[in-house]
Amino acid sequence: MSDAGLLLPEFDEETAPFWEAAARGELVVQRCDACGRLRFPPRPVCPWCQSFKFSWPAMSGRASVWSFVVPHPPLLPAYGDVAPYNVIVVALEEDPTIRMVGNLVVSEGAPINSVDPATIEIGESVRVVFERVADDVVLPRWVRA
Ligand SMILES: [Zn+2]
Repeated sequence: MSDAGLLLPEFDEETAPFWEAAARGELVVQRCDACGRLRFPPRPVCPWCQSFKFSWPAMSGRASVWSFVVPHPPLLPAYGDVAPYNVIVVALEEDPTIRMVGNLVVSEGAPINSVDPATIEIGESVRVVFERVADDVVLPRWVRA
């Protein structure tokens, strides 16, 4: 948890390349070097061909809203203070079965309650932006494309 009371990701050997890329402003996903399929979240073995070989290609950052929710209190204080906000699930353009959870914001650096949740539409196009939320944590977030 950050000083501001935000829940932060825990890095480990498998997920570190994702977070290191986010800190550089890149969205990366694991790709199996044997069968070529993308996979997310990161894991050591391909679920389709069981290969241990993989790489981390950069994605375009283009995606569409696959689903979303609007959290309301009771929430942790840091989140309750900004509720209602949105939590979206996006499907990546490169492979719509690759889905990530994030927030839709009006612009890079805008707060997570900057988009009226009533205006969010399933299927709308978004693109990734990055926001540093702690010294060592940069989160991918999403803006309308
Ligand atoms: Zn594979």
